Amino acid sequence: MASLFLTPPKIFSGTGALEASGPYLRDFGAKALIVTDQIMVDTGKIQQLTKILSQNGIKAELFPRVNGEPTDEMVEEGLAIYKKSSCDFLIALGGGSPIDTMKAIGAMATNPGTITAYMGKEIKTLPPGMVAIPTTAGTGSEATQFTIITDTKNKVKMLLKGAVLIPTLAIIDPELTRSAPPNVTAATGIDALTHAVEAYTSRKAQPLSDTFAISACQRIFSNIRKAYSDGNNLEARSQMSLAALEAGIAFNNASVTIVHGMSRPIGALFHVPHGVSNAMLITDCLEFAVEGAVERFAEIAKAVGIQKSGREAAQELVKEIGQLCKYLNIPTPEKYGINKDEFFKNVDKMANDALASGSPDNTMRKPTKADIAAIYQGLWQ
Ligand SMILES: [Zn+2]
Repeated sequence: MASLFLTPPKIFSGTGALEASGPYLRDFGAKALIVTDQIMVDTGKIQQLTKILSQNGIKAELFPRVNGEPTDEMVEEGLAIYKKSSCDFLIALGGGSPIDTMKAIGAMATNPGTITAYMGKEIKTLPPGMVAIPTTAGTGSEATQFTIITDTKNKVKMLLKGAVLIPTLAIIDPELTRSAPPNVTAATGIDALTHAVEAYTSRKAQPLSDTFAISACQRIFSNIRKAYSDGNNLEARSQMSLAALEAGIAFNNASVTIVHGMSRPIGALFHVPHGVSNAMLITDCLEFAVEGAVERFAEIAKAVGIQKSGREAAQELVKEIGQLCKYLNIPTPEKYGINKDEFFKNVDKMANDALASGSPDNTMRKPTKADIAAIYQGLWQ
């Protein structure tokens, strides 16, 4: 079957990429809105960026208020600053949240209405130029046509999409990920692994997304423990940054499946960071999914060095991912501090929201609402 494959038009990667990015930024415009969070200001990374901009004759306005998962309110606020300050392009520096916020601001700079009106629709009008500079190795947002924005009124994490949302330039500099603390390295790394495994076992997988997904799995299995236990291991950080990018490219073209579909409602209701809610779910969800795609899971197992075959290999892979989550000290919902009664009260809403996102339907073994509710409840056993 014929399939379209999309990536960012320009990717500048490697140690020192940010410092050397000036010539690639010059063509974007005269004034950038920098979408970021307070930590990037406090740690001096923003100063590093604004220095490069001014050396290249580019002015900048700062929007450092993406402190947490992005919401429709943040998008409105950032858009107002973008317009008032007469910016002509956008740069996001930070984790997935600033990058997703930048995409939504970009979309609303050229499309009418408010962001919530675009849920379930394709965003089509080209936004201003967008530069994504990730400081975590995880979300892959720098390579995707998706942005996840919380609708604060309805408490739903909206999955918004459009090929025009793919950043024009992605700057992947592993130096920037060095300061990520171990719990962030763990959660974002498992997010990237989830993207890769889901892309490879999705109904929408295609040969090119497979190549990127398998490579990402290999890099993650070989490096996530090293990056977690020694944040200054630049080789491990470099491999994880590339893996996150590859996994992003993979799911951009193959979609995610049951884990992400079920993860967003937990995030929206209980304010759990995206990578953590994925990690809470990944083992139970994959145990369910594996029965519909034994061969595909076995192929990943072989690629990451599991010396078994067929069903045994597929099941061993899921087991190893579970052990990896334990090594990385991923919290259970209970340990994270989620109220059990509140959680159970919301299982029905979460199952509905998960299915409405469309992602669970991409799983080769399609889950019913009852399957999804059972997995949510099983997290507390
Ligand atoms: Zn994700």
